[in-house]
Amino acid sequence: MLRTRALVVLCISLIGYAPSFAQDPSQNPDDITAKIRKEENENSQIMRTMHFLTDVYGPRLTGSPSLKAAGEWAIKQMTAWGFENGHLEAWDFGHPGWTNERFSGFITSPVKETLTCEVLSWTPATNGPVAAQAYQMVLPEKPTQEQLTAYLATQKDKVKGKIVLAGKHQFVAVNLTPPAPRTDDKQAKERYNPDNPNAGQFRGGGGPQQPPDPTKLTPRQIDEQLDQFLIATGALIRVNDAGREHRQIRAFNNRTFDAAKALPTVVMSNEDYGRISRILADGTPVELEFNIVNRWYPEGKTAYNTIAEIPGADKKDEVVMLGGHLDSWHAATGATDNAIGCAVMMEAARILKAIGVKPRRTIRVALWSGEEEGLLGSQAYVKEHFGSMVQGRVDRYEAANVRALNFVMQGALGGGGPRTLRADGLGKTLGGALVRLEIEVPESMAGRRRARPDVSWADEILGEAR
Ligand SMILES: [Zn+2]
Repeated sequence: MLRTRALVVLCISLIGYAPSFAQDPSQNPDDITAKIRKEENENSQIMRTMHFLTDVYGPRLTGSPSLKAAGEWAIKQMTAWGFENGHLEAWDFGHPGWTNERFSGFITSPVKETLTCEVLSWTPATNGPVAAQAYQMVLPEKPTQEQLTAYLATQKDKVKGKIVLAGKHQFVAVNLTPPAPRTDDKQAKERYNPDNPNAGQFRGGGGPQQPPDPTKLTPRQIDEQLDQFLIATGALIRVNDAGREHRQIRAFNNRTFDAAKALPTVVMSNEDYGRISRILADGTPVELEFNIVNRWYPEGKTAYNTIAEIPGADKKDEVVMLGGHLDSWHAATGATDNAIGCAVMMEAARILKAIGVKPRRTIRVALWSGEEEGLLGSQAYVKEHFGSMVQGRVDRYEAANVRALNFVMQGALGGGGPRTLRADGLGKTLGGALVRLEIEVPESMAGRRRARPDVSWADEILGEAR
């Protein structure tokens, strides 16, 4: 049997999802709605919460002391608002914490200029300032293994002792008429229309995608091999092109989380990267200097979800979960991704507490960690508290025009769940976990989905199980 990943599209039963409140005659629903609006309009704590989560405790990389401190602050705050059972809940991240404490980068010849960069997380520091010549590798586009191996062989003697620009400069076109960042109503309706067979094609959906060409290396494979090559050949520092406009930089991580498997690595603004590329291209040597100070935290292997709740009354064992992810990437303070989600969830529960609502069910705020590294904290929580993701019946069904395995999961997440996996964070977490599921596939089925789109792949695999 081969193990492979199945594309899974599913719906979750909604039984028992909506929160309800005690039947107090003085509290009809309209009154509650008005009270909620009044509390938020007159006494919003959102911006104060955001200030602490971002200005004071950002960035909040998983495993870092700032993330833990942000969680501790949130518990203190939610407890002060009257929430109960506030605590950090440990889970095994398995990687040490990491922070960048200082960075500086310069062109020192033929001009003097300060460079705009961000350090790639979980890469090693330099041991003090490193000054060296720049060398640019222009890798073949979408190479096969043979092409990459052949290219690297030509570079063996060229990168030793160099600061290596990894890849050609990306041309970023100026767009003077950027599209509105908001989805228009028509598109939003199409995306969530259950009768639209193409709904899955929208961004974030699980619709038809070009299957990758198996003869080509993936960007991740190229990246890993390049790291190994640069270490083995004695390069000093790796520089990646941010490839974005207006000096924006998105810096993610050394996917191995292992300092021994990467060079000190920075992501450089597209403008600076282009300037160095152009000077090198005219035959003029370029001298660069970098100083990177990173700190590693072994204790970060244990990460924490932040939990607090308003206990319910007669149905207190049924839980309405409000979640956002508290961790962020390291290059900024993580306001939109996702302090705002956390602040909104904290605020929603705070308002209910402030207006004196007594919910029948427990309302639990959970601020996740490890989201950016793969939804890890919320998955650990589900495993710990809900066992497997689904404890009820699982039905498989055919959906016209959707070439995927389609399931209805009864009682997923203890009966609570979102209406659509594309609509919210809880669904995103569950959906992310499901598409990572490995299922047994007979060897005779290997590659069948790509080769014969007319055949129901699911039918052949699951025919017996139905
Ligand atoms: Zn995020």
